[in-house]
Amino acid sequence: MQPSSPELKPVEAGAPAGGPAPRAPSNFIREIIIEDLRTGKFGGRVHTRFPPEPNGYLHIGHAKSICLNFGLAAEFGGKCNLRFDDTNPTKEESEYVEAIIRDVRWLGFDWEDRLYYASDYFDQLYEWAVQLIKAGKAYVCDLSPEEIRQYRGTLTEPGRESPYRNRSVEENLELFERMRAGEFPNGARTLRAKIDMASPNLNLRDPVMYRILHAEHHRTGKKWCIYPMYDWAHGQSDSIEGITHSICTLEFEDHRPLYDWFLDQLGIHHPQQIEFDRLNLTYTVLSKRKLAALVEGGYVRGWDDPRMPTLAGLRRRGYTPEAIRNFCARIGVSKTNGIVELSLLEHCLREDLNKRAPRVMAVLRPLRLVIDNYPEDLVEEMEAVNNPEDPGMGTRKVPFSKVLYIERDDFREDPPPQYYRLAPGREVRLRYAYFVKCTGVVKDERTGEVIEIHCTYDPATRGGNAPDGRRVKATIHWVSAAHAIDAEVRLYEQLFTRPIPGGEHEDGNFLDDLNPNSLEVLAGAKLEPSLRGAEVGSRYQFERLGYFCVDPDSRPERPVFNRTVALKDTWAKIEKALKEGGKQR
Ligand code: ATP
Ligand code: MG
Repeated sequence: MQPSSPELKPVEAGAPAGGPAPRAPSNFIREIIIEDLRTGKFGGRVHTRFPPEPNGYLHIGHAKSICLNFGLAAEFGGKCNLRFDDTNPTKEESEYVEAIIRDVRWLGFDWEDRLYYASDYFDQLYEWAVQLIKAGKAYVCDLSPEEIRQYRGTLTEPGRESPYRNRSVEENLELFERMRAGEFPNGARTLRAKIDMASPNLNLRDPVMYRILHAEHHRTGKKWCIYPMYDWAHGQSDSIEGITHSICTLEFEDHRPLYDWFLDQLGIHHPQQIEFDRLNLTYTVLSKRKLAALVEGGYVRGWDDPRMPTLAGLRRRGYTPEAIRNFCARIGVSKTNGIVELSLLEHCLREDLNKRAPRVMAVLRPLRLVIDNYPEDLVEEMEAVNNPEDPGMGTRKVPFSKVLYIERDDFREDPPPQYYRLAPGREVRLRYAYFVKCTGVVKDERTGEVIEIHCTYDPATRGGNAPDGRRVKATIHWVSAAHAIDAEVRLYEQLFTRPIPGGEHEDGNFLDDLNPNSLEVLAGAKLEPSLRGAEVGSRYQFERLGYFCVDPDSRPERPVFNRTVALKDTWAKIEKALKEGGKQR
């Protein structure tokens, strides 16, 4: 489907993301890479990877990691792989694999032919485990998961050695082979690295490398009933792929000694792990566990619900890849976790849409306006500007006639002070058209509600100016009733009412802070006819109301629009205030 008017070029969904990602301000990771290039540490190579676990959809926090990994590779002429960390068959599904591939692509990044799966390395990992057993660096342990926990000790107390720690190499090899052959039930045994039960770093207290899990894997099927743990799979996968800089979030800082230990024991290519701060956003949860709970609990309509912070949700909401990449560049990376204002993300979106989204007129809560002195059958084509920010976007014709719809909120029978829009006896400008003056109202006999207003127009004011120089204090938008498209419009607010859903403490329940008004459906909106056939995903500014985009639920005869974001930009105000404050000093 094409937009009906050729001049009207919406910002299309899935359009190739134009231009390179904006360059982030310099940061400590870039400094490390520059230094490694200077010293020739990795032979002048830069090779990163983005390693999602396919147990949910990607969210805006992942976008930060994607932009960072792909962005650094691009900046230094290197490569970035997409690798699925698919080591947990019970929680992972191919639905998620497909969604992740779609979303990374949509964000504008390309891994060329380097799409990998940790599960591709299961054979190699098994061989390496055997190598560690033979070197006396790994053993089969019969403690239950609960016992392993008890033996591990705490931050203040050393752990205790497992009674199975000193099994002979032969016995370990035999038991490990039998684990793989499926002779033992889930949880009966594990393979553990033999490191140091007294280490101050709990990750080094004989960490589990393999567990028994009789579960079918979405790629390897029933081939395996032992699965590698994250720490055992991750660094070795990095090594196999020749990764140089393994960039991950701060919670893995304490895992780095283990990452290094495995690679050193095996004596294989050794990437450098570097940690950065996770993205946290106000009024948002960014953990797949919590996002899955929202979906499974029916609190939202799915992973791509426009209120979700997933890339699929943001896309459906009308976010552009450019806005998200720009946001990721602006927030940068650091070594301390903080929280970013949601309004900054919205600001980046408005900045982008303001320049690119065509402006149109739409009435969300219609009120009939009849122009008594306008000829019954006349239809005039009014010339309207598609985007004043970009004259190249041209103009279009909008039909004008005797009966219009205006926004209910643009009329008050009894206007309060400072209200300059339409009221009995008052004159306003209809955007791109004429001055009209309200002469009367029609009310519902039972409810007393105003259901129609009557006006006269001044034919001399065509185009919106009075030759006699008289002024009006307001300009309102409208849609010709006979030409209007009926539409459903969905208005969204933040999904949560508190900046940190559930509060600062781990025991708080984020579901307690769900916003009961996060979705409002307006069934009777009226759109100007140029929106007929608007493509799913295309984005517009509805004049005076905000940015909107076409939802996939649309039908040709009945489009559905999502409000992407309102026009008011609190972040722009904050920035302005900061700048002005800065000047005074
Ligand atoms: P979650 O806690 O949301 O389940 P995760 O870290 O388990 O996320 P993975 O699929 O393992 O999700 O993440 C893939 C990559 O994305 C990892 O390198 C991880 O560090 C990074 N990542 C995940 N969440 C964020 C975030 N909020 N900010 C920045 N990077 C993130
Ligand atoms: Mg993870």
